[in-house]
Amino acid sequence: MIDTNKIEELTELDKKHFLHPTSPIGQQQKEGPSFIFTEGNGVFLTDMKGNKLIDGMSSLWNVNIGHGREEISEVAKEQMKKLAFSSCFATFSNEPAIRLAAKLAEIAPGDLSTTFFTSGGSESNDTAYKLARHYWVLKGKPNKQKIISRTKSYHGVSMGATSATGLKPFRDFTTSIAPDFHYVDHFSTKSLRSLIEQEGPETVAAFIAEPVQGAGGVHIASDGYFQEVREICDEYDILFITDEVITGFGRTGTYFGIDHYGVTPDMMCFAKGVTSGYAQLGGVMISETLHKEFKELSTGTLLHGYTYSGHAMACAVALKNIEIIERENLVENAAVMGQEMLQGFQSLQEKHSMIGEVRALGLMGAVEIVKDKQTNERFESPLAPQVVNEAAKRGLILRSVVFDGQDTLVFAPPLIMTKEDITSLISILDETFTSVTKDAVKR
Ligand code: PMP
Repeated sequence: MIDTNKIEELTELDKKHFLHPTSPIGQQQKEGPSFIFTEGNGVFLTDMKGNKLIDGMSSLWNVNIGHGREEISEVAKEQMKKLAFSSCFATFSNEPAIRLAAKLAEIAPGDLSTTFFTSGGSESNDTAYKLARHYWVLKGKPNKQKIISRTKSYHGVSMGATSATGLKPFRDFTTSIAPDFHYVDHFSTKSLRSLIEQEGPETVAAFIAEPVQGAGGVHIASDGYFQEVREICDEYDILFITDEVITGFGRTGTYFGIDHYGVTPDMMCFAKGVTSGYAQLGGVMISETLHKEFKELSTGTLLHGYTYSGHAMACAVALKNIEIIERENLVENAAVMGQEMLQGFQSLQEKHSMIGEVRALGLMGAVEIVKDKQTNERFESPLAPQVVNEAAKRGLILRSVVFDGQDTLVFAPPLIMTKEDITSLISILDETFTSVTKDAVKR
């Protein structure tokens, strides 16, 4: 039963009292929230009006194991009954946090084996920058403080993470950002090398990159890119940090995105998929080498910690989430279904004049919208937002990216997608493009 009175009541309350994250405030005030979700089940979300949609973004690239897992709610309930939270400051600890840190060491790339816990991706990024700077202070090189990131990158919205975010609109949201953040061309290692030379390697603490860039439009690095990054960082004595907030925990068809490139970073930020969104958790893993240096050189207290670092309930949820990922072979499934999704995109590309480049790595993909396939010319105003609206009407949640003249659709469905789910996703997209193309021709 659709309760229209309740929908109206909640809509008014939402408009009056809820300042939404990363949302167009004008649209919210005019139309209210676009969906008020009430239930999640597998790859589907249902709203108060009874609409059932494929969650083609795993909500915010994070619900990797899909919605509505009772096993997880049981674990959360049991852990909350026993001990929901206790501090991890001042060397206090708890069993779920210890066991999760040990499990992460088992699955992480190379010698990443020690974890600092946070509550999400932005906190993880800020932690990584601070640990990198602190590391160089301990090493007697306090001038190595600059953080270099890439122009299309997204690292979060806390002050440090915003400052590292290459996508300019996020930095322009405020009038100033933190000092000592620098940006290099997204795709070229040459640009990294020349910036290091220009600034002086003795002033650079770290370089950070997402193994597959997400929020800026799903950009996949060329073969060899990260191997060269690793070499450059080693050559100039600069720490290499990967931001695996989206790419971690199976998203790209390997456990971590950097696994595709066979190199090990010095630090790795994670969040999202570690709990599939069932609890708020993130962290930074550091290499054995870094940990050894911290142990040997640090004399006082590590003066960095969040109240919820090592939250017992969140860590218990993460352990169960990882168990499910492994038991159901979801990393392998993401690789196989990612291929299916890419082939689906390619078949649509042949059929629709508006589809330009398509790409995917595992279940992380993008479709470019173009006016002219041959010249790659774009429409004057981007059509991706309209495609997203039309797809939602037909039962598929997607996201558009229109930064930097892009007109891009991005995809990140849950790792539990079946062949039938991919077929549904592609067929909704097909219908959507047919309808939007008709409109575009009329314009
Ligand atoms: N890093 C990356 C690569 C992200 O995609 C995100 C969020 N989309 C973040 C960091 C920030 O994470 P959070 O929103 O949990 O702070």
